[in-house]
Amino acid sequence: MSGMSAFDLSGRVAVVTGGNRGIGRALALGFARAGASVAILARNAGRNAAVLAELQSIGRPAQALLLDVTDRAAIPTAIADIEAALGGIDILVNNAGNAVLTGGVLSEPVATWDNILETHLNASFLLSQAVARSMVARGRGGKIINLASMYSFFGAGQEPSYAAAKGAIVLLTKSMAIELAPHDIQVNAIAPGWIETDMTREFLDSPANAAIIARTPAGRWGQPDELVGAAVFLASRASAFVTGVTLPVDGGYSVF
Ligand code: NDP
Repeated sequence: MSGMSAFDLSGRVAVVTGGNRGIGRALALGFARAGASVAILARNAGRNAAVLAELQSIGRPAQALLLDVTDRAAIPTAIADIEAALGGIDILVNNAGNAVLTGGVLSEPVATWDNILETHLNASFLLSQAVARSMVARGRGGKIINLASMYSFFGAGQEPSYAAAKGAIVLLTKSMAIELAPHDIQVNAIAPGWIETDMTREFLDSPANAAIIARTPAGRWGQPDELVGAAVFLASRASAFVTGVTLPVDGGYSVF
């Protein structure tokens, strides 16, 4: 293993949940450009089809499946469908996510709490379980990458469920890293700072924007493409001895 070939994903099969827009789309396209076959899983058929076309134009095998990650019973079927179409999964990115500003614990509806925890945390557990079982059975190692957040480290007064889920993702990452290391499966997380996507767009035009930029040493928002380098690293042999890490990609937001 030497030079840039350590980052080559040729012959690998990658799955990105929520791969049809925002960060997930950028990672799916980045993996395909690095050589991987890529499957995306999300709920919106039109956006799935659009990203499938973009993946196919890169020239690698690709698949887009309709999946709501909160539909627990559908997860094993989706994983089996991908493995039948593309081959055994080498890389899983648990990226699908949502956020709801509920105003805090005094007003947050329990249904919102349940949905946020189900979408981020429980789905990451269930998808990782299904994929890790397959990886262990095949005996060729693998990579699991979870999406953490700045709210993995800080509280979120306006959305306690989101911070609770993202905090737990860090310790789920560490726990799976310990268990799966003997199987040559590395489990890491990426903690993005403020990245311009549908999820965060409302903040761009709000009074909060000035505070976000002032709080970010880089003095700007990040773009989804700026997460690709970290994700390809964590998906490739270049990170063969890196596990249990939560890597901030945040323009320095979490430094102080
Ligand atoms: P977007 O809102 O732009 O995209 C969310 C993606 O998740 C879409 O592809 C959406 O597709 C999919 N999704 C949402 N709910 C479900 C579901 N129940 N089942 C399947 N797919 C679902 O978000 P971002 O790209 O900004 O966020 C991606 C990840 O990064 C999230 O985990 C988020 O918490 C995290 N993150 C984002 C930050 C940012 O600044 N943007 C900062 C820190 C973390 P569809 O609607 O078609 O299902």
